[in-house]
Amino acid sequence: MIGHAPDSPEQEHIDEIQAAAARVERTLLMIPGPTAIAPEVLAAGARPVLSHNDPLMRSFVAESLARLRGLFDAPSSQPIICAGSGTLAMEIGLANLIEPGDRVLILESGVFAGRFRTIADRNRAEVRVESAPLGRSIDLDQVKRAIETFRPKVVTITHVDTSTGVRLDVQPLARLARERDALVVVDGVCSIGGEEFHGDAWGVDVAFTASQKAIGAPPGLAMITVGPRARAARENRRTEFPGYFTDFKNWLPVMEGYEAGTPAYFGTPAVTLLTMLHTALDEVVADPMSVRVARHAWIAAAFKAGIAALGIQNVAAADCNANTLTVALTPEGVGDELVDAVRVEGVTLANAIHPELRGRSFRVGHMGVCGPAEILTTLGAIERALHRLGQRVQFGASLAAAQGILAEPPARVHSRPTPAGLPPIRA
Ligand code: PMP
Repeated sequence: MIGHAPDSPEQEHIDEIQAAAARVERTLLMIPGPTAIAPEVLAAGARPVLSHNDPLMRSFVAESLARLRGLFDAPSSQPIICAGSGTLAMEIGLANLIEPGDRVLILESGVFAGRFRTIADRNRAEVRVESAPLGRSIDLDQVKRAIETFRPKVVTITHVDTSTGVRLDVQPLARLARERDALVVVDGVCSIGGEEFHGDAWGVDVAFTASQKAIGAPPGLAMITVGPRARAARENRRTEFPGYFTDFKNWLPVMEGYEAGTPAYFGTPAVTLLTMLHTALDEVVADPMSVRVARHAWIAAAFKAGIAALGIQNVAAADCNANTLTVALTPEGVGDELVDAVRVEGVTLANAIHPELRGRSFRVGHMGVCGPAEILTTLGAIERALHRLGQRVQFGASLAAAQGILAEPPARVHSRPTPAGLPPIRA
């Protein structure tokens, strides 16, 4: 809480809001994962449990694998789907490639790079971290110098970091890594399905996501694409791989089996979640990637314009502001109680997770099943919440700004600049 003495009337009001928020049962879920899911996906989860060898289940998995290959635009890769969250995907994706003493260069644009670091440390790799300033993209010359001097075996990139809303430009970063024969691992947990992604063309060796973000399925499935160079790195290890559930070699043949019509078994698949994923992917692949990305960009531009009209500042700079979420600073004098107050208005947002943004920012997911209705409802709820918290609000200002963008066709909005991010960071 910011700026209120414990017993002040303002504090009492905030306490009331927090108590009311705890009582709200049905809300519009607008956090950056898990995201709301479509009724068809929900209904798919109500199907009786199938055998993982049932012909229907086999076809669901085989089709989902093929669709993921398309979604990651990585025809040369073998996708893996297994039960677990994005963090498991990170561990499977990175750990297979590294042996003790191998060098891993981690490009940091927010807190999720820290997980790559821990995974690399625990596999006894030598780690170097190159960081972007808060809310900014990483400097290409800085990365080039680090690759030249450190000569990493693996470079990790967080495509969209969910703690800052920063989207890194994967293509030039991957190119720099490839020029020096490094393997490229991309965390696409908060990007795949909502941002442009071309795994093979960009030279990505491993990419991954999780079911609960832009794909629009419930949490619980990790999805990883493994390219030929990544596979060779696992095959050619000098030392035994200490992982078991995380071993590429246990998963790749099972996934290939599903696609070849000869399913094998390693760990009971999460059949109900797989059924829901299959239905969610129906919608994800219904349009070409460019159309889906344009829709996300359109929604993001409308939301970001809406909050800018309230004088609320984005954390990510305009040139690296993600389509999938917004991380924004709370107005002066308002802290984490904003999220509670918005919840009372019927919408669930998330507080900051970045240590430098805690208590002074909030996060909104606008990916997957999210359209104009959700954006306008959320902006309206933010306006009322700010009013409740004593801020001066011109009702409708954010909605009008968003409407101005929503009234344009998505394709035209695609390349339009988003509002400016944080002012230049002090040294
Ligand atoms: N990477 C990114 C970019 C994420 O946003 C998240 C989750 N918010 C993770 C990794 C970890 O995923 P999970 O919480 O599903 O383990």
